[in-house]
Amino acid sequence: MPEVDLYDTTLRDGTQREGISLSVEDKLRVAATVDTLGVDFIEGGWPGANPKDTEFFRRAAAGELRLDRATLVAFGMTRRPNAQAAADPTLLALLGAGTPAMCIVGKSSALHVSEALGTTRAENLAMITDSVRLLRGEGRRVFFDAEHFFDGHAEDESYALEVAVAAAEAGAECVVLCDTNGGAMPQRVERVVRQAVDLLQGRSQVGVHVHNDTDCAVANSLVAVRAGATHVQGTVNGIGERCGNANLMSIIPNLVLKLGLDVVEPRDLRRLTRVAHEVAEVMNLTPDPHAPYVGHAAFAHKAGLHVSALAKRSDLYQHVEPATVGNDLRLLVSELAGRSTIVLKGAELGLDLADDGSAVTRVLDRVKDLEHAGYTFEAADASFELLVRAETGVTREHFRLESFRTIVDRREDGGVVAEATVRVWVNGVRLIGTAEGNGPVDALDHAFRAAVDGRYPALAGLRLADYKVRILDAGGGTGATTRVLITSTDGEREFTTVGVSSNIIEASWQAMQDAYDSALLHAALPVH
Ligand SMILES: [Zn+2]
Repeated sequence: MPEVDLYDTTLRDGTQREGISLSVEDKLRVAATVDTLGVDFIEGGWPGANPKDTEFFRRAAAGELRLDRATLVAFGMTRRPNAQAAADPTLLALLGAGTPAMCIVGKSSALHVSEALGTTRAENLAMITDSVRLLRGEGRRVFFDAEHFFDGHAEDESYALEVAVAAAEAGAECVVLCDTNGGAMPQRVERVVRQAVDLLQGRSQVGVHVHNDTDCAVANSLVAVRAGATHVQGTVNGIGERCGNANLMSIIPNLVLKLGLDVVEPRDLRRLTRVAHEVAEVMNLTPDPHAPYVGHAAFAHKAGLHVSALAKRSDLYQHVEPATVGNDLRLLVSELAGRSTIVLKGAELGLDLADDGSAVTRVLDRVKDLEHAGYTFEAADASFELLVRAETGVTREHFRLESFRTIVDRREDGGVVAEATVRVWVNGVRLIGTAEGNGPVDALDHAFRAAVDGRYPALAGLRLADYKVRILDAGGGTGATTRVLITSTDGEREFTTVGVSSNIIEASWQAMQDAYDSALLHAALPVH
């Protein structure tokens, strides 16, 4: 079987999912995270379509996004009907994004050409040809998304194929057949892809981009590969409009472990679970515990019979070794659960726990207690590091909180002012700071900094990059437990901390306290 390219569209098509709105910071973080998987292409968004995507590409080009493995792709569409490609604002914005590769979408359904686009079949072909040629003429790699290809093929086979040929002849290196409405069945996808592969042989690659409206998106992607497609598009955790896009978290391990295609290296595959969970956290989505391969329950065994058999031979009750996708076998006999994760994560932090079984047990117990209380450490690496250091004694106390107080004053004129006072001890000295802020949490941050001002210069560069709140037991109404995740940056390192409380300000303080601690810890660590 030939090589297959993986193309991630989480940041473009994935964000079409209801309720998702990513900041530019979030997008940069997702791209960097997905890059660690070893995918070939990452589609960053649609420059020119909204200010956020334009800024994303500007900051990426300015060096804020370093992709070690993937090629960054900008998305756009073909020129407008009866217009010049060279003067088309969408195509110009696309070129302006400065990426080496771009993907443009065009119509391949005759019905959509006449009804949605309101133009002729010939003009649609010219729009595709002109647009691809323009981008190729500027030296860019071009992918062509043939929208509604499978539906178009069912309506008018010869026109759909004519569109594919036009894009290939104009210089698109890959013609991507899209199941835009997500209604195609695997048998048909395989047949249509095989036909397109035969037709375009020697002219361009064939790719697929499918949606999950019949729960067949992963299956459709796999049969497409069997039929000769060499480019597969999908999203992390299958997020996307309606029922989602094809889920790369299932496609990747299926291609590697089931079909024997080394689309990513074994060591990249071991990052799969972490990437799935990190991206979910950035998007403020609860990771699906029952997701294949990457779900918390994907390799969890409860039945006593399973557990005793698994203790003898781990392959008796599971279809793959969980470690191959970075997941853990979870036997619901507590002692065994997750030890390898702790050791693995400790190693990442430079702490060797492999020979210290009792430390691993203490960390594990602490993690379990805290997770039961609502904490999560999957995204909050910095809080986890502090926890491990505290349990293994490799730590020092930078400060100790005595108390804090916040006041929110809502005035008659509608203005709201927040003020906070923080009392902390540093090296036996009691320090007090008072400050105002945009809200109680902001005021608390300012007050803490005012208190320790001068003693910890490393905190000057610490900046809060993101603040996320999730209500854990919504049934409790306004008295529910709240989890706060704070992402901070010191200009070089970006890290996340967590706090949980029924009081949102206390939860925020916990996360901020870990952020200060983590920043001070790393400022003091030798650079390696
Ligand atoms: Zn799509």
